[in-house]
Amino acid sequence: MRSGRVWARLLGLGAAVVEGVDFGDEGAVVVTARPRWHLRDRCGVCGRPSPGFDLGAGRRRWRALDLGTTLAYVEADAPRVRCREHGVVVCAVPWARHGSRFTRSFEDQACWLAVQCSKKAVAELLRIAWRTVGAICERVAAEAGAERDLLADLRWIGIDEISHRKGQRYLTVVVDHHTGRLVWAAAGRDRGTVEAFLNALGPERCAELELVSADMASWISGPVAERCPNAVRCVDPFHVVQLATDALDVVRREVWNDARKAGQTILARDLKGARFALWKNPEHLTHRQRGRLATVQQTNQRLYRAYLLKRQLRAIYRVPIEHAAALLDAWLAWARRSRLEPFRKLARTISEQRPGIEAAIEHGLSNARVEAINTNIRLITRRAFGFHSPDALIALAMLTLGGLCPPLPGRVT
Ligand SMILES: [Zn+2]
Repeated sequence: MRSGRVWARLLGLGAAVVEGVDFGDEGAVVVTARPRWHLRDRCGVCGRPSPGFDLGAGRRRWRALDLGTTLAYVEADAPRVRCREHGVVVCAVPWARHGSRFTRSFEDQACWLAVQCSKKAVAELLRIAWRTVGAICERVAAEAGAERDLLADLRWIGIDEISHRKGQRYLTVVVDHHTGRLVWAAAGRDRGTVEAFLNALGPERCAELELVSADMASWISGPVAERCPNAVRCVDPFHVVQLATDALDVVRREVWNDARKAGQTILARDLKGARFALWKNPEHLTHRQRGRLATVQQTNQRLYRAYLLKRQLRAIYRVPIEHAAALLDAWLAWARRSRLEPFRKLARTISEQRPGIEAAIEHGLSNARVEAINTNIRLITRRAFGFHSPDALIALAMLTLGGLCPPLPGRVT
């Protein structure tokens, strides 16, 4: 085998002719190459053969996967063509995506690692900045998303908002309840963002939606009601339980403040210590937390009542559906006469949202799944700190939760 072909295969250059190999600065391997003749003079965007324009900015280098421990680069001319559709653009090369300074296999590996490993591991192993990983994710996700129809066969979906940065910046995300996949995400949380999703779906597919779950926000339910005639709207159990947790927290703070002002330092301390015990689900409590809860039960009936109300609301999602409605009735009555303002307010909200809450129970919309996806998106959001834009975050989320991550280079037949 000619050594040029060996180098082309080693660096994953595809249909390229290797012209030479040398050591560059600092001992990196530099392979000079050019596309095979039938792939020359093609538009970098669409790949259409196009008339030549000029030599562009001269020679260019693309980082390739390391050869063992040695850095490797591909070097080639980067002339420009004039595409009928895209105007004057740099020519396509078989080894790299348009606009990238990395080879395809380098980028695929970077994405696979970004999905699997810690930020630090990816950046150190690949010797690139995490921010650069974000830009790579964007390119790869855009390509994979264009090749696949993520919005096909949607019947049950969840629409939710995720805060991705301090200062009230949000993403709207859409999840397929059947596959558990993230199918769409965009920056913003308003009517316009939901409408952009419904536009992407188109009227026919909107009509095929059978169930749309969300929190209780009207910016989601409004456009869905208008444009998805056959969809039952459900309230995500996760959000209902979250509201009860918030109400409990308001009561806890009130009680704690009262105790502090009254100079009851021991009680105030106990209440503070019981915070995590109150938040946790009973089956996950440690022995110590059980003890703290027992103290609350003895010392503060208001707070303990709030705790029981929260727990009981959670229970409506755990009983067979024929009992759920009766249990919800009982809960509403209890909350209304609880003399706890945050829970009386919650009772009003739940009464208003009752059809959506019951629809979720009736359809067996699993809280665990909705919550798991939410948790995963939040984890990705945290990892995406350091990316330059929400687009990079969305790309990483689509690679991880949307099934768009490429396999490791060289692993598919
Ligand atoms: Zn073109």
